[in-house]
Amino acid sequence: MNAFIEVNNYCELKCRFCVADLGYKYPSTNISLDLIDEIIKKYKDDKMKAAFITGGEPLLHPAINDIVCKFAANNYYTYITTNGQRFSNEKFAVDFMYSGIHRISIPVYGCCSSIYDAMTGVEGSFNALKLGLDNIFYIKRKYASHIKIELRLLMAKYNISNNKNVVEWIRENYPDVDYLSILGLQLSSRTNNYEHMIEISMTEAAPYLRSCLKKIREYGIKCIITGIPLCVLGEEFSDYYDKKINSITEQVQLFPHLSIKPHLKTLADCLYREESSKKKSSDVCQQCRYQIACEGVQERYIQKYGFDDLKAIT
Ligand code: SF4
Repeated sequence: MNAFIEVNNYCELKCRFCVADLGYKYPSTNISLDLIDEIIKKYKDDKMKAAFITGGEPLLHPAINDIVCKFAANNYYTYITTNGQRFSNEKFAVDFMYSGIHRISIPVYGCCSSIYDAMTGVEGSFNALKLGLDNIFYIKRKYASHIKIELRLLMAKYNISNNKNVVEWIRENYPDVDYLSILGLQLSSRTNNYEHMIEISMTEAAPYLRSCLKKIREYGIKCIITGIPLCVLGEEFSDYYDKKINSITEQVQLFPHLSIKPHLKTLADCLYREESSKKKSSDVCQQCRYQIACEGVQERYIQKYGFDDLKAIT
């Protein structure tokens, strides 16, 4: 059983592209530990279990360590996506690294304050990120090599030309990073407000992504791509996609999953989602020999840009 858990719906950053429901629909809320207990009890006999923890900003949940600990103690693979700001507090970072977490994923929107802080809308956030990364990588190196750290590149108009520098910066400062991930653009109501900074078509983004991927390959860092089909980047990157040729075992499978939101009170209210919101073109993709390995494109992206970026690989 995969559980996708938004443990809260508030955050200390104001990222221009955020897709989370940060108190727009419901007042700021934390998920209850009773609901977590109910989930754990209900699925106790499942053999393969994973908890994907997110938010809002999950590290701001007052009982985040207890939540991770509960899942880990009940044989869940625990994976958190966080902005990493709270890791700038050394004690918090140490306590969290001992909570039972298996994998931490942190987006890096830029490798300098001018870009990162512009993306997050909060001055000083890059310095907090850097300090946080220094702390968790130090703890990982010394005491917790089993914890995997994934750093994530964002594909947005404002920062995409800088992503190559981010890869170099990561290699220089955190050579022991376990994975770099690149996400396709996720459009949201917030991105519409910052269209000039955020939105970029995949055709426009492709040359920047290719140069990034070349660097990642040169440095020998494992890379995970989601939401950007192979036809956009070109077949030379097929080893990142074709799971039969090069099994991406590091890529955790999210679907199907139980979707758990902070305002929900009981397990009966949670939604079971079978499929991702990515789609393929019935005209183009049916002719493509990567159809099975490919995830397709984000639904919101298609609504806005159509399938024009896709060119079947025959
Ligand atoms: S299946 Fe469709 S989206 Fe995927 S690589 Fe082929 S043409 Fe592109």
